[in-house]
Order: sequence, then structure tokens, then C-alpha cells
Amino acid sequence: MKSHPITLIPGDGIGPEVVDSARRILEATGVRFDWETVHAGASMFRAGVPSGVPKETIDSIARTRCVLKGPLETPVGFGEKSANVTLRKLFETYGNIRPVREFSGVRTPFSGRGLDFVVVRENVEDLYAGIEHLQTPGVAQCLKLISRKGCEKVARLAFELARAEGRRSVHCATKANIMKFTEGLMKRTFEEVAREYPEIRAEHIIVDNAAHQLAKKPEQFEVILTTNMNGDILSDLGSGLIGGLGFAPSANIGSGIAIFEAVHGSAPKYAGKDVANPTAVVLSAVLMLRHLGEMDAALAVENAVLATLEEGVTVPRDVPGVREPAGTRAYTDAVIANLGRRPSQMPARPSQPLRPPQFDASPVWVRPGSRRTVGCDVFVEADTTPDALGRLLSGLGPKAGLRLKMISNRGAQVYPDKGAQTDCVDHWRCRFLASEEAAGFPSPARLGELLSAIEAAGHRWMHIEKLEEVDGAPGYTRAQGED
Ligand code: NAP
Repeated sequence: MKSHPITLIPGDGIGPEVVDSARRILEATGVRFDWETVHAGASMFRAGVPSGVPKETIDSIARTRCVLKGPLETPVGFGEKSANVTLRKLFETYGNIRPVREFSGVRTPFSGRGLDFVVVRENVEDLYAGIEHLQTPGVAQCLKLISRKGCEKVARLAFELARAEGRRSVHCATKANIMKFTEGLMKRTFEEVAREYPEIRAEHIIVDNAAHQLAKKPEQFEVILTTNMNGDILSDLGSGLIGGLGFAPSANIGSGIAIFEAVHGSAPKYAGKDVANPTAVVLSAVLMLRHLGEMDAALAVENAVLATLEEGVTVPRDVPGVREPAGTRAYTDAVIANLGRRPSQMPARPSQPLRPPQFDASPVWVRPGSRRTVGCDVFVEADTTPDALGRLLSGLGPKAGLRLKMISNRGAQVYPDKGAQTDCVDHWRCRFLASEEAAGFPSPARLGELLSAIEAAGHRWMHIEKLEEVDGAPGYTRAQGED
């Protein structure tokens, strides 16, 4: 019988207990595993590994291509980045699958409605790429980078998952009505990919309405595809509908690599007390079994968990009105004893192996039919009024072949004055267009002269964005109030 090499990361806080529970249940299925136990997270930060992920752990994952992990603490005050996010990004796990399915033994206000959906979250881009800058001492910026390639990968994953699980619809939840380029790219890519899956109904929904609908009528959803931060929030909302974070599993899917973990964190106050609910990590292990092609074992473990919960056996603090409170270890024993049993209601969903899309790792360069630079936004820190700054820049622009079109403050046009009641801060976006007399957009050297002139006038420029027309359409948005 084949033995599956798996990297096992026990994690922090309650991690070692819940991961041990999953491992015991997995081993009771008869499937064979070669566990490589390695570490990441708080202990590694303390040992002086700045990323929290030592080379030994990276090497193990590169070898096994499959990880079962406990939650990792992101210490406050030492260690720079979350070791979880680092792991997801190091191995480019582009899609995060988060199933939300009601359990017949777990009473919630939504019990009996047949909740059974999956949030498929883009996992490495968006605001969580963590590209942040302090623009002025009083104004911070986080770049929301969304790529066509990233959207395509996760959109295909969502449709492939729908196919593997026999689901009939995929909703794409975005804020494309406001963020037309970033969130809009996810919506447009979703609509393109959807054409290749004609048997699946594809529907776009604005993300705030998705949250509203999830609280009102969650049973209408089957698969929800969404961007990184939206998905983080919607999936936690989803876990609240079925009994809490202790029941929410997840799979981070990359090209030929996958990391399985509970949605929850290290819940340090429960560590070592035998009170942590291991269901989330056990169901993450079920996703891992499916990923490994062990479909029968996956079905057996999921049904054993469902049957155990249906009997009213659960870890006490998660479920109101529980009939038979059990500690982490006793609950694990009950699940093992129930291997081979099916719950009477809502048994595990039959599933085919998921075929995650495989992608070429080489950089993608999207080449448009035409592109033209028509101007630039110069971002300036200045302690002045919109009118004074506007008059200054209207005078400086022509020396570089540019015409000041407008100035906005936090997105609203404040020069020329349109009567907006903007509460201005010291961060101005100054939009210049190539003047009609100049032959196109100025050279970097001439642009440099404009920046020098701004500094000579006592202000500070912080960055520049080019304004491009791509295939004849503006590749930038207008300010609020800009004509
Ligand atoms: P958390 O660890 O998920 O805990 C929040 C609350 O959720 C707990 O206080 C508890 O609620 C409940 N809970 C979570 N998992 C549970 C389980 N298995 N059994 C029973 N109850 C459970 O979130 P946090 O307190 O915000 O974060 C703690 C640390 O975990 C932080 O360092 C954070 O960075 C890290 N974290 C890691 C991951 C990851 O590794 N993927 C994810 C999230 C957070 P009650 O108090 O109501 O009982």
C-alpha cells in the first residue's frame, strides 16, 4: 500500500492537541502516511528565525508537497510578518477553499436549513500582499494589487471544485461597482472563465449584499468565489453560521502543492487544557485525504465526525445544549469508534477528485493592442490650501509640457473648487495631462524638473502614477467630482 509523505506542523497554542487528534483519526483509517514533523511560528520567532519559517520546514514542504498544519501565532512585538501568510506566499497557494456545512448535531439559529457552501478565496494577492507605505506621517497606504493571472487561477479552481462536488452554481462576490479595475478584474475574469463551464450557473453578487444574503438566506449559495480580504471576512461569517471557528476547515491550494489547516488561530487561553475543538482540523484532514485521492477514507472520516456530532458528542465550549460533553481526546476516540458509521441526516457529500488547475510559473506579460501615456498623478505632501497648491502647480506644469487638470484629497476633487466639503489632509493627488502643445508625455528628465520645482517651492513629492490609455480606454479612474 502506498504511503503518503506529509509535512506535519503542530503549530502553537491549541495546535499540537488538535493536530494530534487529526493524526490519530487519519491513522485509524488504515491509509499510510510518512509524517515529517517540522516547526514554524512562535517558537521559531523566539529562536531567532525572522520569518518564523525555518529552512528545514521549507525543505520538507518542497519535498512532500502536502502539509497538515496547526495554527501559528503571530506574536505581537516580535517577528515581522505572519508565518501563516509567509507559508501561503512561499508556496504560492493561490486558492483557499473554506467549506461551510451545517452539522445535524450542532444547534445554531440556522439549523435545519441545509447550509452547504464553499468559499473559494484568492489567497496571495489583494491587500494581504502587505505592500504598505506611510505616505506622510499622517497618511498610510496599502496597495491593492490584483492580477489577471491570479484571478484566472482561483476562478478556475472555483469552477473545478463545483464540478468535482456536483454543484450547480458559482457566485462571484466583488466590490467591482466601486473598485472597477481591481475588484472589476476578478469579476471580468470570472465571467470569461465561466464560459468554459456551461453546466454551472455563474452569477456576480456585490460583496456587501453577499454578506447580507449570507445572514438572511445562506442556503442559496453553493460556491462563493471572492478576493482575498472579502473571502477572509465572508468565510468567518460562514463559520459563525454553523457553530463557530472550531468547525471551520480549509485547504490552501497551489500548483502541485497544498496546505491543510483549520481557519481558526492558536486560541492560547485553551492550550493544554483538553478543551479545544479539533473538528476544524479533522475536516481539513478530510480535504487532504481527497487531495491525496483517498476518497473512501475521506468519506469515512467525514461521516464519522458527522455521526459523532449527531450523537451529541462534542467538545463542550462550542455547542449550546450539548448532550455529551467530551474533552479533545475523548471526542477524538468517539470519532475513531464511529469510523464506518453514517449520520442519519446530511451525510458527507460525495465528491470526485478535485483537479486544481496547473499553471506555468513563468511571468505573464499581458500585451495590449495599444497603450499611450496621457498624463500622470503626482502625489504631494503639502501644508497648504487646495487653492494655493493649485495656483502653484498650474504655473509649474507648462515648464514640463504638462497641464494641471485637478487636485484631489483622499479621492475627492478639491481644485478647481467644485464646492465639495472635503476635510483635507496633507496628502494631495495632483493630476497633470500632457499639454496639447507638447509632443506627448514628457521625458523622465523633464518630469524630474517638475518634481524639483515642487520641492523648491517647499513641498514634498511622494510618488508618481502614470495615466495610461490601454486599447483606447483610460486605465485610471476619475476623482469624485472630476469631469
Ligand atoms: P483564535 O485563535 O481563532 O481564537 C478566537 C476564539 O475562537 C477563541 O477565543 C475561541 O472562542 C474560539 N476558538 C477558535 N478555535 C477554537 C477551537 N479549536 N476550539 C474551541 N474554540 C475555538 O483567534 P485569535 O485569538 O484572534 O488569534 C490567536 C492567535 O492565532 C494569534 O496569534 C493569531 O495571529 C493566530 N491565528 C493564526 C491563524 C492560522 O494559523 N491560520 C489564523 C487565525 C489566527 P471563545 O473564546 O468564544 O471560546
